[in-house]
Amino acid sequence: MKQTFHITAINNPFDDPFLLIRILREKKALLFDLGHMDGIETGHLLKVSDIFVTHTHIDHFIGFDTMLRLLLRRDSPLRVFGPKGIIDCIEGKLKGYTWNLIRDYPLKIEAFEISGDNIYHSSFHAQNSFQRIDNILSEFNGIILIDSLFKIEGLQLLHQIPVLAFCLNEEFHININKEILSEKGLPIGPWLSEFKKSVKKYYNLETKQLENQNKTFRINDSLYSLTDLMPIAVITKGQKISYVMDVSPTEDNFEKLKPFIKNSDHLFCEAYFLEKDRQRAIERHHLTAADAGRLAREAAVANLTLMHFSPKYINCPQDIYNEAMSAFKQ
Ligand SMILES: [Zn+2]
Ligand SMILES: [Zn+2]
Repeated sequence: MKQTFHITAINNPFDDPFLLIRILREKKALLFDLGHMDGIETGHLLKVSDIFVTHTHIDHFIGFDTMLRLLLRRDSPLRVFGPKGIIDCIEGKLKGYTWNLIRDYPLKIEAFEISGDNIYHSSFHAQNSFQRIDNILSEFNGIILIDSLFKIEGLQLLHQIPVLAFCLNEEFHININKEILSEKGLPIGPWLSEFKKSVKKYYNLETKQLENQNKTFRINDSLYSLTDLMPIAVITKGQKISYVMDVSPTEDNFEKLKPFIKNSDHLFCEAYFLEKDRQRAIERHHLTAADAGRLAREAAVANLTLMHFSPKYINCPQDIYNEAMSAFKQ
């Protein structure tokens, strides 16, 4: 089965955290966190449409400058989502440079700050020398972004400061049955991606019914309804990918996280400390490897990737994997 999301890059666990996910079909990419991104193919970064920042500690945000430098001449906007304070941080970054010669550059940065029940939205456009423009706020109901293929949910947690965890959810996944396609004498072509988008929009997974019977497609001079074409669609459960970095090891955070990451196909989680250094983990507001493994087990996660290890374990990373995996597979 062809997957929609391709996990393309993460750093070495002792380097800054980030996660790059490409959506091949849409020729775009999503970035979770903005650690130092040395060695990542520029071509991939140029396709990033949306960035989800857990918090703005330097190891999660220093890559903003890399992205800014790369995307300055890009036509399509860049959206950046983050916790309380992110808009001030973006404004601060942009104010750190002189912008007198970029008024004909197309880049538009749209910043979204999730804070309590609100999403604050500010724009920074190259044509205005990145002067901040505050827009109307909207209500935050757990969902940060809805795209035709997926949605991104956010969860507010504490790491002494507010931090966000993210879930990428594909409601369902559509593959094309090539045999039925050729039986019906239908060609492979761009109409298939329009068809998939319409199925996404109008197919109700619970009732297994189409909510719009009138949508039609012209293929080779014949008109087909969405219902006529449905036999070529193979519908399966979508992917769920979760990203959890820099979280205080508190019961409150755990109880919020478990339902949020429940049944993830893949969890990317920090494992900053070992259990023997739990006191340090509490003081520094990070999870231990055992916390990561236990969370993954209790939330019935299928695959766990550990990230973001303290440099103190540089000579014994295997201890981190062993501790997390024994809690995960218990
Ligand atoms: Zn942090
Ligand atoms: Zn960190």
